[in-house]
Parts: sequence; C-alpha cells; structure tokens
Amino acid sequence: MREAAKVLSQARRVVVFTGAGISAESGVPTFRDALTGLWERFDAQALATPQAFQDDPDLVWGWYEWRRTVIRRVHPNPGHEAVAAIEARTPRSVVITQNVDDLHERAGSAGPLHLHGSLFEPRCASCARSAPMPDGEEPSEGRRLAPPRCEHCSGPVRPGVVWFGEALPEQILETAVQEATDCDVLLTIGTSGLVYPAAEIPKVAAMFGATVIQVNPQPTPLDAVAGINLHGPAATVLPALVTAAWPSLS
Ligand SMILES: [Zn+2]
Repeated sequence: MREAAKVLSQARRVVVFTGAGISAESGVPTFRDALTGLWERFDAQALATPQAFQDDPDLVWGWYEWRRTVIRRVHPNPGHEAVAAIEARTPRSVVITQNVDDLHERAGSAGPLHLHGSLFEPRCASCARSAPMPDGEEPSEGRRLAPPRCEHCSGPVRPGVVWFGEALPEQILETAVQEATDCDVLLTIGTSGLVYPAAEIPKVAAMFGATVIQVNPQPTPLDAVAGINLHGPAATVLPALVTAAWPSLS
C-alpha cells in the first residue's frame, strides 16, 4: 500500500481502468449473477447479442430498460468516489471503464471512456443517430417492451452498449490504447482481465513502462502483469490508497 501510494502521488498521468467488480460493490448485478423475474429463464449472454435483438426486440429492449431501472436505484460507492478523487489530484488522468452503468459519472468522474458502451446512450439500430433516453421505471419483475422508434428514420432504437460479437467503438478503443501507452501509473480495478480486447489495456500500459497497480478481492490473470497487487474490495482499498497518497488533502 505504501509503495502504491508513493507511485500514485508522484504520477503525472494516471489511467484508471475499471470492470464489473467496482459496480457489483454498489449492487449492480454482473453477467455471472442469475437473472430473476421474467428474465429467469434466459441466459444473459444470449440476450446481449445483435441476433437476440433482431429476433425479439421487445424482449431485449425490455431487459435493458429493466437493467437501467436497477442501476438508477443504486449509488456510487466509496471506490467510485476515490477514483474521482484520484482524477482531481492528478494533472492528467482518464477513467477507462468496461461498465455500461453511469456510476463513475455520478461520483464526479469527468468523461469516462466507456469501452463497452453505455446503457444511457440509446441509438437507432438503423441509422445510428443517438436517441432520447426514455424516462420510465420498469417493474421489478421485468416486462417485454417495444423499443421506441427513431425520430429520423423510424428504425428501432437499441441500447448503446457493445453486444457479444460486436466490435468495440473504434475511436474510444484507440484513445484508450493511446492513454495506456502514455501513462505513468495504471490502476486496474475490479476486472478479471479475461474480456478481450479490453484486457489488453493494462498489458499495454505495463509494456510501455507504467507501474500497474491492481485492486481486486481475488487473484486474477492480471496479477502477473501488475507490479503491485492490493487485494480487497475497491470500496475499502481505494479510499485508503487516496488517503495514503495525499495525506494532507484528506
Ligand atoms: Zn434512425
């Protein structure tokens, strides 16, 4: 912890790279959790594909709106707040997240790069123009729901997330890799390091000479990449790290 705090406080450029673990600590279900209600008999991975949306848009749109309702009801945790504090205290920093929720934004992070898209940026499935976000609340047991129609071409509106089998948004991935090559410290938080190509980000940073600090309750394949491993939940490890790095500001 002391060594991590030292390199972090001296860094000019920090990349914070986050995955499902930090959101799970706020109560956001992960893809590994069993689905409930209407969704119980479905496999999350099978619902998150372009084919599923094409076959049954009401089922898939209803599921994503339900997920958005779930996320609206949870709050950023001290881990998200510590990430925003690191950003505020480092001259150049960027948050790169694999999460599709808005918990970094709500904790005060400025413009996190969403590698896998966002539940809060719906767009037209036909013309790709962004679409207004519906403001309805979904029932807790879930329901089928017809997707809204695009204002420009009346195509169906789809969730602004990256589905299985789809490429990551090119510009965002390019910026993320660029940031990873150019940072002094990369903090990887709550990610298994198994989902590619996102998992390359910490490896790129290490290859270009950054110190990689990992925060995760469990060992992951990134243990070998990280110079420093801090085992524990983000909500306890990160605030302690911020206090240790900037004692006079805490
Ligand atoms: Zn359209």
